[in-house]
Amino acid sequence: MEQKNQVFDNVLDLVGNTPLIKLNRLTADYKGDYFAKVESFNPGNSSKDRIALYIIEQAEKQGILKPGDTIIETTSGNTGFSIAMVSIIKGYDCILAVSSKSSTDKIDMLKTMGAKVYVCPAHVSADDPRSYYQVAKRLHEETKGSIYINQYFNQLNIDAHYHSTGPEIWNQTKGNITHLVACSGTGGTISGTAKFLKEQNPNIKVIGVDAFGSVIKKYHETREFDEKEIYPYRIEGLGKNLIPSATDFDAIDEFIKVTDEESAHSAREIVKNEGLFVGYTSGAVMQAVKQLNEQGKFKKTDKVVVIFPDHGSRYMSKVYSDKWMNEQGFFDSVHEATAEEIQY
Ligand code: PMP
Repeated sequence: MEQKNQVFDNVLDLVGNTPLIKLNRLTADYKGDYFAKVESFNPGNSSKDRIALYIIEQAEKQGILKPGDTIIETTSGNTGFSIAMVSIIKGYDCILAVSSKSSTDKIDMLKTMGAKVYVCPAHVSADDPRSYYQVAKRLHEETKGSIYINQYFNQLNIDAHYHSTGPEIWNQTKGNITHLVACSGTGGTISGTAKFLKEQNPNIKVIGVDAFGSVIKKYHETREFDEKEIYPYRIEGLGKNLIPSATDFDAIDEFIKVTDEESAHSAREIVKNEGLFVGYTSGAVMQAVKQLNEQGKFKKTDKVVVIFPDHGSRYMSKVYSDKWMNEQGFFDSVHEATAEEIQY
């Protein structure tokens, strides 16, 4: 509460130190106590503020970046927003190469945040010179005084969470945490947080949440890349069709997969039960917790921490749109829409 009376130098002073909030209704019938690390309290509304600030400040410390230089990344999502925000305050140019699949809302948001956005064709392979990976690489090579964040293959992504999210959770739970359940996209959040927590107490169980249609869980189990695991899915930010080096597979005990549909309903249940307006992957995490509870994975004395990565406002045309839910066929006999919900 101390923080409420404080005056801050700029918005970046508010990155990190997000609250840990007890879940009171959603998990009332589950064994154990449940706490959510609510990352939407970061000023850019997601956990990605932590990695944007950390990676940029590491480059500054190494003398790689000076004011007026350029920061490049391939994302239309949370990371792009966070990099753009840090760039405004620190005086960098921000270039984001994004896929033409990105919504105009997202592109407009990034432009509003001062980013230069290159929209690249979605349906070309990653090694095509027009792909957003190749465009970012080329711009990085051509732009003097630029860094490429490359979050899926940047060890600093793990380090950012090792130095912030991990210690915060350890202190907030007074060292009593028994389980961490978190999404894995780049893997930075879960890997860095897990590494710190397991150094404090190796008995803490770390469970990663993966999507059906992603290779991550299978790779964790076999250390083999199985293309057959890959197919399209809806949840953004969870799972992947490649193996990111920003995932430390040894720091994670097991992965659990969740469906698009159940995760969408879970996200809506978080909002309705806990008053926390969080994003789609927060729903995925709570769906995973539900499945783990059904599998009898938790005891009465357990203290389970889940990470809610971002804010619900970024999903108004998706999970929080009844029209979208209907189009996906997500209102079924179990989750029947009310007359009001299907008026569109
Ligand atoms: N949820 C959302 C909404 C995200 O954007 C991301 C990042 N891709 C994640 C979860 C997963 O976080 P990480 O990349 O650190 O694994």
